[in-house]
Amino acid sequence: MPIYEYRCKDCGHVTAFLEKLGAKKRHGCEKCGSPRTTKMLSTFAAHAGPSSSSDSSCPTGTCSLTG
Ligand SMILES: [Zn+2]
Repeated sequence: MPIYEYRCKDCGHVTAFLEKLGAKKRHGCEKCGSPRTTKMLSTFAAHAGPSSSSDSSCPTGTCSLTG
C-alpha cells in the first residue's frame, strides 16, 4: 500500500496515511482536526537520500542488522 501525505492548509502539519490505490477517502489534519488538507504525492523515495543509511531502525522491522 502506498503512503499518501496530507498537508493541512490551516496549520501546515503533514500527516501520512496508508491508503489503497484509488481510495477517495479524505483525511483531516491529525493535529488541529481541520478538514482542509491537500493531498501530496507519495514520497517513498523523496525521504531516502544519501544519508538514509544513518537511520537507526529498519523500516520493515525485520532486519537482523539493527539493534
Ligand atoms: Zn492542521
